Amino acid sequence: MPLAEHKQQRARTKIVATVGPACADEARLADLVAAGVDVFRLNLAHATREAHDASVAKIRRVSHHADRPVAILADLAGPKMRLNELPGGQIALALGDHVRFVRGELSDVPGELTTTYEPLVDELDAGDNVLLADGTIVLSVVEKDARSALCRVTQGGLLRSRQGVNLPGVKLSAPAMSADDREFAVWATKRDLDFVSLSFVRSPKEVCELKELVAASGGTARVIAKIEKREALDQLDAIVEAADGIMVARGDLGVEVDVATIALEQKRIIAACHRLGKPVITATQMLDSMQHQLRPTRAEATDVANAILDGTDACMLSGETAIGEYPRETVEMMNRIMLATEAMLDSGARHGTGPVFNKLAGCAAGASGVHPITAAVVASAARMAETLGAKLVAVRSRTGATALALSKQRGLVPTVGISDVPAVLRQMCLYWGVIPLWTAPIEHDSLIKYLDWWGRRDGTLAVGDRVVIVGGNYLVSGSHNIVEVHEVVDQT
Ligand code: PEP
Repeated sequence: MPLAEHKQQRARTKIVATVGPACADEARLADLVAAGVDVFRLNLAHATREAHDASVAKIRRVSHHADRPVAILADLAGPKMRLNELPGGQIALALGDHVRFVRGELSDVPGELTTTYEPLVDELDAGDNVLLADGTIVLSVVEKDARSALCRVTQGGLLRSRQGVNLPGVKLSAPAMSADDREFAVWATKRDLDFVSLSFVRSPKEVCELKELVAASGGTARVIAKIEKREALDQLDAIVEAADGIMVARGDLGVEVDVATIALEQKRIIAACHRLGKPVITATQMLDSMQHQLRPTRAEATDVANAILDGTDACMLSGETAIGEYPRETVEMMNRIMLATEAMLDSGARHGTGPVFNKLAGCAAGASGVHPITAAVVASAARMAETLGAKLVAVRSRTGATALALSKQRGLVPTVGISDVPAVLRQMCLYWGVIPLWTAPIEHDSLIKYLDWWGRRDGTLAVGDRVVIVGGNYLVSGSHNIVEVHEVVDQT
């Protein structure tokens, strides 16, 4: 993809879009890529494996035709608890009503509820709160016997089959991954998918378990931990360290912990990711009203901008692209808000009035897994590029780690991440500000010539422009130890 197109039209903050019926056909997916999607999320809690297989094939074709890498994130359902079928499909619950959780898969008795989580009755205690339907309905357990847990409705509403069940503050014995999750994780690695995310993570051990499963099945997928439980917030740094990336899963997080604290938890999670050098996705209800309207609310537009100010690497769309009426328009709107926010940040940073990004600049220096020489070199390269007014920073990155470290510098100059490995380039789709560029494994001089050609092809680079190149000469193993400044020359 031409560089100019990236610079003019595409935000540096990345866009993750959830696949669903609203964008299932290839033309729609292509539209979303043209509008700015970098990563597609397959929500494995919904649809069949055959449908996900079809989506993978379509996304790969769309990416090929668009001539740009597009990543795929397989989102495992994890221990998400749901109601089973309700007789008649729904039940209206009013304040003060009583309902009963019973064992088994189905009950025909009015007011009896069953769930997908077999040990629920054992693990509830009198006084526990049970939140249903995204927290819109609240029950309080009043008594328990061997067969059931009796609950009083403390906040009423219309309850439907298969809606979610959350137990804030209750420690559940459910394993991190069900048999289905494990099968899907292996499925994802066999299809060379780029990211696998685990829902309802409670500890770093659970993240490591998934990483081991991915590695054992021969995959290179990066593991994303979804932060949506109090237990995860309590061990945040250890989970961020263990994972390859994080999702602020505000949908369930806003039910599992007090919704009034969500904004600050988001900032804390994003800050931890910056400190530890991991990419972070901010998810759920970002432009929710655009499922049915062409314009977002002021609050939603502000939410996307604020996530960028917090330092998110990516923003995610869920229902907006999966089942909404305006998937393409929503992606375009998100991209517009991102571009406008980034432009104001850049201008603030250039003129010394920017309140935000400079706070984040350089913080990846202590990132875990990054060689200290690489960390120092990328920090210097980003600053050097700004001082010299360079048009581009280019980094050859075998695993993507150095491209990520550069991304975390939040420099003003666009970064090109170069690799000959398609999977590494797709993973760069999640790294803020990184434009993935494929080249064959070529010598350094040829790479410089290729970069010049690539940049000049569309007028982004001109003779005399400066490009800062980050590389390594293998004198210090595992590190990038060279910064080189190149001036574009006339090759004609
Ligand atoms: C969330 O809870 O915010 C989330 C992204 O997870 P899911 O869409 O799987 O509920």
